[in-house]
Amino acid sequence: MTFLVLLGAPGAGKGTQAPILADRLGLPHVATGDLFRAAVHEGSAIGIEARRYMERGHLVPDSITVKMLLDRLAQPDAASGAILDGFPRNLAQADILATALADRDSAVDVALEIEVPEAELVRRLSGRWICRANGHVYNETSHPPRVAGRCDLDDSPLIQREDDRSETIAARLATQLSALREVVGYYRERGLLRSIDGRRPVVEVTAALLAAAGGGAGTGAWSADARGTGG
Ligand code: AMP
Repeated sequence: MTFLVLLGAPGAGKGTQAPILADRLGLPHVATGDLFRAAVHEGSAIGIEARRYMERGHLVPDSITVKMLLDRLAQPDAASGAILDGFPRNLAQADILATALADRDSAVDVALEIEVPEAELVRRLSGRWICRANGHVYNETSHPPRVAGRCDLDDSPLIQREDDRSETIAARLATQLSALREVVGYYRERGLLRSIDGRRPVVEVTAALLAAAGGGAGTGAWSADARGTGG
């Protein structure tokens, strides 16, 4: 069994890298944020409860989150492991994960951190612009408009949303980064942390993650896999 924890701040590129890693390593991508969004969409009991916290940008209580995650890991496709994204978010969750995996005679093999300096995160997150007429979304770096400041589709002016302004983003990031640092420290202390420079192009970050995953693998089968597809 192979359990890989993917760590990174909002804007670090986890959402881009996680599906690529899942494909290359042949493991399911288990993202607690996605599980919660699906539960909200379905209107399940967990979804109704979680929504109250998600709407305010708060963490969902551990009791709910952990149960949902463990139910997901009990699915057949996770029998040989998973790439965990968005979990653990705090030390209590990290401990619970260790215990739950130990019950399956398993453990986290490696924690991969995509590191991006805070100023760059703010720049990435604040690079989002929407058009006034229809809300079409652009990003200064990943999806710029053809003509600066104008929508490609309807030519209306591009404006910035209130919660995408640098000051708001910095405040939101500060809370999330302190929790992330704790979890990073947890895995560093256990010798499981591999940090990757997330400022490089997507393909280079992928290659570095795969190399780090292969180097830190606890199981032979997975090491071979990671090396075989690592490029
Ligand atoms: P994400 O897509 O990872 O940003 O998660 C979206 C939302 O789901 C978060 O803002 C939290 O409300 C909730 N959530 C996701 N993962 C966790 C977790 N490990 N612990 C608590 N809440 C979580």
